Amino acid sequence: MQVETKKIRTIDEIMKNNKWIVDEKPHIIVDYEKCGKCDKKLCVDLCPAGCYTLLADGRLSFSYEGCLECGTCRLICPNEAISWNYPEGGKGIQYRYG
Ligand code: SF4
Ligand code: SF4
Repeated sequence: MQVETKKIRTIDEIMKNNKWIVDEKPHIIVDYEKCGKCDKKLCVDLCPAGCYTLLADGRLSFSYEGCLECGTCRLICPNEAISWNYPEGGKGIQYRYG
């Protein structure tokens, strides 16, 4: 009997199938003034796309281009520092599961 084997793909390999059509207008706006007073910086650890980074001087850096549109940052920010929208229709991430 022949056993069919299927290669298990990593999350990174699966994610590479996705495509982004970047909206030139950011769909997420961060209020850096509020971030300056934030001691938790939960967004840095919890954004699955790594859109939030902590700079060496302690300031927050954010880029929306690789956003997965999961909404996590909007939910977890304790200071309501994030204005969140979906990108314009047809833009943003195009999920491809194949
Ligand atoms: S958790 Fe909210 S307030 Fe704190 S750094 Fe992140 S976006 Fe800014
Ligand atoms: S919506 Fe999700 S992927 Fe996009 S910036 Fe927020 S946490 Fe990151």
